[in-house]
Amino acid sequence: MDIVSNDYLLSLKTKMNFKEGSERFLDTGTRIYEFYDEFLVVCPKCGKLAKVLIDESEFEKLSKRKMDKFRNQFFAPRRLVCLNCLHRDFWKGSQIAIDASVDWYFRLPLWLEISCCGETLWAYNRNHLEMLESYVSAKLRERTVKGRSSFLSKLPKWIKSAKNRDEILKAIGKLKGKL
Ligand SMILES: [Zn+2]
Repeated sequence: MDIVSNDYLLSLKTKMNFKEGSERFLDTGTRIYEFYDEFLVVCPKCGKLAKVLIDESEFEKLSKRKMDKFRNQFFAPRRLVCLNCLHRDFWKGSQIAIDASVDWYFRLPLWLEISCCGETLWAYNRNHLEMLESYVSAKLRERTVKGRSSFLSKLPKWIKSAKNRDEILKAIGKLKGKL
């Protein structure tokens, strides 16, 4: 499984290889599923930032038994950790629902969520937010063949619209301030 994780990290690094505030953004096909490894959520006990992470020790046990890469990654047990009140919770299951407004495991509201342009702007984690920022700030957006099915290509029109650029970047800046 090491090889799989390394490959994944490498591919993510390549995809994230853009300069902040760059004029050009190249969409290489990142899927929304690829942000599965960390969700920033609102702690159900204290209302501060908590994280939903893969439970690495449980994940390793699972990886030895099953060889299906995606199954292993998505259904690996998760732990909820609050750095403020130290609240902990665990998730072990075989079904998840991929939803915009909550994490896929504990169904907790996202930490990175803000009203913007009469809509709601949200991100699962920092990588997700920074990719949105680069996409929105770029004056020229290009995509590879794989980019046709990326999460960016499926963003709602209001996020893609140039007239909303400043307001969206301001909102992203506020979300970054919460990190
Ligand atoms: Zn807490």
